[in-house]
Amino acid sequence: MSEIDTALAEVRARIAAKCRTVGRDPAGVTLIAVSKTHGPERISPALAAGQRHFGENRIQEAAGKWPEIRSKTSDLCLHLIGPLQTNKVAEAVGLFDVIHTLDRARLAEKLAEEMARQSRRLSCFIQINTGREPQKAGIDPTEADEFIAAARETWKLDVAGLMCIPPVNEQAAVHFAFLREIAKRNDLTQLSMGMSEDFETAIAFGATHIRVGSAIFGARA
Ligand SMILES: *Cc1c(COP(=O)(O)O)cnc(C)c1O
Repeated sequence: MSEIDTALAEVRARIAAKCRTVGRDPAGVTLIAVSKTHGPERISPALAAGQRHFGENRIQEAAGKWPEIRSKTSDLCLHLIGPLQTNKVAEAVGLFDVIHTLDRARLAEKLAEEMARQSRRLSCFIQINTGREPQKAGIDPTEADEFIAAARETWKLDVAGLMCIPPVNEQAAVHFAFLREIAKRNDLTQLSMGMSEDFETAIAFGATHIRVGSAIFGARA
């Protein structure tokens, strides 16, 4: 087995163990392997091990490696987990299957327009800035309910759920619990939360999509 196979198997085992502990079905947790900065030679052992959900944070980088892999791989699901500029929306809609970073009205409008134009319906997670950090993307929690309603009713987007990136120096659990509460009162069942350092905590708080990079692919350069 390659290093990546082994690491992936370990992450899967940790997911299963955590699910057992908290009484959840592991099938309810989608592992997104975050392959940003890693080339096809590091992605291919993960594909060989059956991994089909991958996450990327830059459009240009994803455009450079995924179309070729996709042409040779069935059931691939590509998740955009990084910020999306409105001038890259057309490219993103063509390239990705799920958007985790819907974070403003202008982007919602553009996504709706572009999905209609390309006849592609991507599911979207709305990013919530749970820590209200000025430098971080995401909808302010006090505006979340209103934005979720608009995403559904005004822009008619397929809103799957909510996503957050907790502040680095705070307890992630508090933010996961907060995100879950916002989702619950808006009848949203999917939660994109948890990374290499805290995916087990995220699972305990109901994560349905965990975004794991370094625990699978090793440290990024
Ligand atoms: C890079 C990244 C991840 C993965 O981070 P690791 O700590 O390597 O698991 C998850 N989510 C987002 C939004 C990222 O940019």
